[in-house]
Amino acid sequence: MELDNHLIYIDITQICGIGCKFCMYSDKHAIKDHLVLTEKAKINISKLINNKEVKRVSISGEGEPLNNIKAFKEILLLSKGGVRFEFITSGYIAHPELITLYDDINKIIIKNGDTCNIRLSTDSYHIPKIKNKPHAVSIKYFLENNLKNMTFSFRSIDIDKEFTRNYLIEELNKIGLDAKVQINDILEDVLLVGDKSFSIDYKNLVKPTFLENIKYMTLKEYIQSKEEKQNRPFTLGNMNKFPLPNGMDITIKPNGNVYFYGIDSHLLANINIDILSIDFFKKIINTNILIKTLHTVPFLNLMDRISINKEIVALIENANNPYWVIKEILKYDKNLLNKIIISEKKINIDMAMND
Ligand code: SF4
Repeated sequence: MELDNHLIYIDITQICGIGCKFCMYSDKHAIKDHLVLTEKAKINISKLINNKEVKRVSISGEGEPLNNIKAFKEILLLSKGGVRFEFITSGYIAHPELITLYDDINKIIIKNGDTCNIRLSTDSYHIPKIKNKPHAVSIKYFLENNLKNMTFSFRSIDIDKEFTRNYLIEELNKIGLDAKVQINDILEDVLLVGDKSFSIDYKNLVKPTFLENIKYMTLKEYIQSKEEKQNRPFTLGNMNKFPLPNGMDITIKPNGNVYFYGIDSHLLANINIDILSIDFFKKIINTNILIKTLHTVPFLNLMDRISINKEIVALIENANNPYWVIKEILKYDKNLLNKIIISEKKINIDMAMND
């Protein structure tokens, strides 16, 4: 299986005191793991992020990554140049502190020849919880400093499109900037400020069962929009636009454990113990039948095949997000996917022998 243009996703903390209602990681906040970069971890992360096949390095958290700025800066410093970083945050800290952080990031990425996109949460669950709203001040910083290596974008959820659009326009108006929103597709808008543009991306909600009488994007609608956008069937891994091959989605957790995103039942390695490389992970995809199936069989086909009872159908509907569906199914019966894959393989072999 050809794999290229991978995503390295590094969760640097589980600490968060913001308390968003729809938080997918609230169960982790009690654990409070924090990524500490040991010498071995630095060697491993450096090898991964500097590999030419890696398309993007996302720094985020199962908590708020601003609570571990030390690890973020240490990771930036491991670059040997040409790395596309992304920092996903609520941006909750006081404005002077935030601007100092932006200055620091900008200095490091310019020196190393990297880029970094700061992706700010802009939905109706985060916004009321955040005292120091970072959105307008970030755009102002971008415009005033004529930034080249650092960019900003916004992320929200599908039920909040109007909220997000109005909020951003109003925040910018308050500081004297005219802005408008251009609708690109079901998953993306663009905020236009003068001749500059800033992407706004929308996610479907994980476990939206707390919503009453609000229409949200279903799992099927979400997957079909992703497929339309990338012009290929949705599978796990880092989906790239056809004809580029898909890549791996390698996730490093705050305790150093490494997984393919969404397949938390299969611990692959730990950055503090093992010796890692891109080839090490490629080999796992190509040899583990379950992992390979999740990366090659279209997700919607796979869901049809495993929907063998009402309980599983309800579980898929409630999770409402492909990665969470896999997590929930593996929790429900860790052998279910394997059993289906193996029984179908056997049927195919039997049919071939009878031909
Ligand atoms: S900021 Fe992120 S991690 Fe913290 S509560 Fe909100 S969604 Fe959860």
